[in-house]
Amino acid sequence: MNAGTLGRLQEQFRGEIIQPSDAAYDAARKVYNAMIDKRPGLIARCTDVADVMAAVKFGRESDLLTAIRGGGHNAGGLGICDDGLVIDLSRMKNVHVDPKARTARVAAGCVWGDVDHAAHAFGMATPSGIISTTGVAGLTLGGGIGHLTRKYGLTIDNLLSADLVLADGRFVHASAENNPDLFWAIRGGGGNFGVVTSFLFRLHPVDTVYAGPTFWPLEQADEVMKAYRSFIVKAPEDVNGFFAFLTIPPAPMFPPHLHNRKVCGVMWCCTGAAEAAEKATKPMRSIGKPVLDHVGPVPFPVVQSLFDAVYPPGLQWYWRADFFKELSDGAVAQHVEHGSRLPTPHSTMHLYPIDGAAHLVENKETAFSYRDANWAGVIVGVDPDPANRGKITEWCRDYFDALHPYSSGGAYVNFLMEEGQERVQASFRDNYDRLATVKKKYDPANFFRVNQNIRAAA
Ligand SMILES: Cc1cc2nc3c(=O)[nH]c(=O)nc-3n(C[C@H](O)[C@H](O)[C@H](O)COP(=O)(O)OP(=O)(O)OC[C@H]3O[C@@H](n4cnc5c(N)ncnc54)[C@H](O)[C@@H]3O)c2cc1C
Repeated sequence: MNAGTLGRLQEQFRGEIIQPSDAAYDAARKVYNAMIDKRPGLIARCTDVADVMAAVKFGRESDLLTAIRGGGHNAGGLGICDDGLVIDLSRMKNVHVDPKARTARVAAGCVWGDVDHAAHAFGMATPSGIISTTGVAGLTLGGGIGHLTRKYGLTIDNLLSADLVLADGRFVHASAENNPDLFWAIRGGGGNFGVVTSFLFRLHPVDTVYAGPTFWPLEQADEVMKAYRSFIVKAPEDVNGFFAFLTIPPAPMFPPHLHNRKVCGVMWCCTGAAEAAEKATKPMRSIGKPVLDHVGPVPFPVVQSLFDAVYPPGLQWYWRADFFKELSDGAVAQHVEHGSRLPTPHSTMHLYPIDGAAHLVENKETAFSYRDANWAGVIVGVDPDPANRGKITEWCRDYFDALHPYSSGGAYVNFLMEEGQERVQASFRDNYDRLATVKKKYDPANFFRVNQNIRAAA
């Protein structure tokens, strides 16, 4: 980038501008998934909305491929790009809780740990994911599935409004009253429509939850999974528990004789009274003979950060995902076969329940298109060693190929890597055409295209 072109941005920009020749460049271009190794031409680390406006204007006028980076967690590395401009929001961190109104205004560079910390001081929370280091922006814009989904819905079901900078540089507010078409589209349609600079979320009284894992030996996986599929869809909405195949980490919270053992399990996170949660989860926890049943009252932010240390940034990740309405015997058999062959200790498969409160919203009410599914499944091959890339990728693809015929056809967009336009369309399903119409209105030239891309309607 020549000095004259760059000067135009520098005149209007207060944040940090990082170029390939800068010492900070290599650290700044890193994202969570170490399999992604992209080299942008320029990283614009914004400090405020004015910086975002200047960066969008600069990217558009210089005709640069432009990526938006929130928490940098995206599976396919869509928070960064090769050669072009990265609008990096990671410095825009602020959470303002209004305890009376039960809302939180969250700046777009926050990760979920920032929100949990601020809201927990008031005994409140809003639905997010299952790890505290994920970005608020990317997770929310794709939908948001996590520990509180069955009780309080997806993250987008608790989004009251958002502020955005559009491709033409305008700053707009999106809510049920203002630009409702845009508000509909950003609730599941990803970063296709503009740079969100802040979100307003509804908070709920969630303080201490009844949480923790129940693990069973792999030999019982068939019995446990079959019990789980009928248990969870009938359980009270206070009960959330996702199913997993995993390797027990060698962490102090687990007895040493279980360290590094491959198991299947349910990770619980229940709202409401602990006694009621204990009673409601007991039938499932009494199936077979668990090797560990470690469930009890825990502060919500602790549950949200339980996996942080196991999954630090910088591991190799390969993802595949699908939605599932049912878990037939055939699907269970494939899960047991592939889930029992985890290729590395970090690799895992999670089935997140998305029924309960998430089913109270219709498919067409937000851009998130699979309200009729009961689970969002994700298979992740993970390892610190790049030499194991082939191994984790092959296992993940084989598992996905075996399961896909049992799926609803599309995946949660936040669990997709770069898998092509057909897969994007399958994931937005009947909402795709309406999204394409909104795209035409707000970003007709497809300036925001480093994402699970929606093409503007013809
Ligand atoms: C370890 C791990 C655990 C996860 N757990 C969950 C989970 O429990 N539940 C769940 O729902 N998801 C989960 N995810 C998936 C997560 O939701 C996606 O990876 C999401 O894209 C991350 O958002 P980010 O802001 O960190 O990502 P980034 O890589 O920064 O951005 C991802 C995408 O979001 C867009 N984007 C980011 N910020 C903005 C913005 N301000 N305005 C407009 N567009 C923007 C970008 O266009 C980009 O395409 C997990 C991911 C990881 C790696």
